[in-house]
Amino acid sequence: MGGGVRENVERVRERIERAAARSGRRAADIRLVAVTKGVSVDLILEAQEAGVAAFGENYVQEAEPKVRALPAAEWHFIGALQRNKAGRAVRLFSWIQSVDSPRLLFEIAGRARAAGKMIPVLIEVNLAGEKGKAGIPPERLPELLAAAAGLSGVSVRGLMAIPPPAGDPEESRPYFARLARLFRDAVASGAGAGMTELSMGMSNDFEVAVEEGATMVRVGTALFGRRAGRMG
Ligand SMILES: *Cc1c(COP(=O)(O)O)cnc(C)c1O
Repeated sequence: MGGGVRENVERVRERIERAAARSGRRAADIRLVAVTKGVSVDLILEAQEAGVAAFGENYVQEAEPKVRALPAAEWHFIGALQRNKAGRAVRLFSWIQSVDSPRLLFEIAGRARAAGKMIPVLIEVNLAGEKGKAGIPPERLPELLAAAAGLSGVSVRGLMAIPPPAGDPEESRPYFARLARLFRDAVASGAGAGMTELSMGMSNDFEVAVEEGATMVRVGTALFGRRAGRMG
């Protein structure tokens, strides 16, 4: 991966713009969430200087010094959240993208109310029924949205998914299309009335995700380089 973070940010933005143009969308409607797991504060600051406003972290502990270093940035939690870390997550993050059970949703809501906050959340969907992977099965989405209705402290703003790993980005397209369909159905039924966000697409497939309607793409490697020997 050649070039610095600034060049990478520019390249990724251009690719988002072209994918948006191909599908008759505006690039301004797509939020670039720079994924910072395993990335140093210095590189994250470079991304911020290059205009990136939103960052995503998988681990509460790892996020703490980073959020402190970039307090004005919009921080998104995108990893597996243990319920005993929900309080810290609520204090640190602007968004929680990875809610996949009523219990976790209630825990976040309770912590947010105690902190006098309202946390926008996304529901993570396990589209391919992969075992051991985060996310609720698509058929349980209505139940979770029903549980969220009228709950204070959280506001369900949309859906998030990570399709099965693929070599060819086109392999992700049917999954992105499926998430977009679940989203439209939930909005149409009224169960997801407040939903506006579709978080899908990573370094390997974010252009396909944009073509299928992503409003947030979560990009790590294409911005910061490979995570050699690190987790995730
Ligand atoms: C690591 C990660 C990403 C970014 O993946 P890249 O392939 O490095 O772009 C996006 N979303 C989630 C949930 C992740 O864990």
